[in-house]
Amino acid sequence: MSGSALYDTFARIPLVFERGEGSWLITEKGARYLDFAAGIAVNSLGHGHPHLVAALTEQAGKLWHLSNLYEIPEQTRLAQRLTDASFADKVFFSNSGGEALECAIKTARRYHYVNGQPERYRTITFEGAFHGRTLATIAAGGQQKYLEGFGPKVDGFDQVPFDDMDALAKAITDETAAILVEPVQGEGGIRPISSQSLKRLRELCDTHGLLLIYDEVQCGVGRTGKLFAYEWSGVAPDIMAVAKGIGGGFPVAACLATAEAAKGMTAGVHGTTFGGNPLAMAVGNAVLDVVLADGFLDEVKRKALLFKQGLAAIADEFPTAIAEIRGSGLMMGLKCGVPAAQLNMALRTEKLLAVPAGDNVIRLLPPLTVTDEEIQQSLGRIRAAAETVAKAPAEAK
Ligand SMILES: *Cc1c(COP(=O)(O)O)cnc(C)c1O
Repeated sequence: MSGSALYDTFARIPLVFERGEGSWLITEKGARYLDFAAGIAVNSLGHGHPHLVAALTEQAGKLWHLSNLYEIPEQTRLAQRLTDASFADKVFFSNSGGEALECAIKTARRYHYVNGQPERYRTITFEGAFHGRTLATIAAGGQQKYLEGFGPKVDGFDQVPFDDMDALAKAITDETAAILVEPVQGEGGIRPISSQSLKRLRELCDTHGLLLIYDEVQCGVGRTGKLFAYEWSGVAPDIMAVAKGIGGGFPVAACLATAEAAKGMTAGVHGTTFGGNPLAMAVGNAVLDVVLADGFLDEVKRKALLFKQGLAAIADEFPTAIAEIRGSGLMMGLKCGVPAAQLNMALRTEKLLAVPAGDNVIRLLPPLTVTDEEIQQSLGRIRAAAETVAKAPAEAK
């Protein structure tokens, strides 16, 4: 047991941040860290963005919470804007990624139920996926380390090897309801699924009457340089979970669906107390004001290229430290040649915050508002960290 009264579920880094400014986090003692973790892609517009602060404080003076028993105009407006900007016709708001995924899975099961096929309730997912920490979403993710000790795995989820389309085709049965994938696996190690594979997924779904579900909790909301990552492939899903970046740091999540896919989700079959509350909706709308403004996503794409080129040069110089650069937009992964924890530690020594992922990868997820100068600074720090671990004695590796 640690000294605090908190659950010991997090191995916390001994740093205490007092405030944030844009891409920077500042400790109690005034040390400034370049925040390329961004709350794991949550602080999409950095810290203290004036438009978000204004939206939240203005709403705070009017109304905080309203039950979904009543009309919530800002909720209706955010749903309309999300559907106007995507494949979807319908939206259900919640507070976390895991909840949005629960809604997505329930939506798919209900679709088949109202079609008279209640036996179709199974969802196929890829190994290495991460969909949350609820009982159903740990079953969906299928990772043993998250399932262990929590009783029987919730029924209805089948995993196939990552991006293995033949295995996936073989896994489809009369009980399959849906296929659920992250267009870019986040915690799995920044592993994008190719456009070709997404097209094949769509074809399989259409052939077998399955619903295609995307988990864009991490890769959505401008992270890859498009509002949603699936836009790069042009392959639309039937249902999609969004969270993290959509609230810019306020808990907001959404499950988007076509009208057809959502047809089973009628009055009373699903619900939430906090989901879609006025504070969350004010911030969600404010995030879209910025991300959908003319030229914003073009800037993300331009900055992403700058970042990627700089990272590639560092990998070329220190291939023993960084074996490979992967990812899309401002969602980059450094596949490490040394244990990822070692590079992460060296980055922190350089006062750059990053996030470890699976597959021995370090994630770099700067705020979408990061400046060119901050990118250059980050590259200097990443280079210094790569140099440090490349020079470290072999036995320390
Ligand atoms: C973070 C994440 C989730 C879970 O979100 P929570 O808000 O922690 O429940 C689900 N899917 C993906 C891809 C994520 O990155």
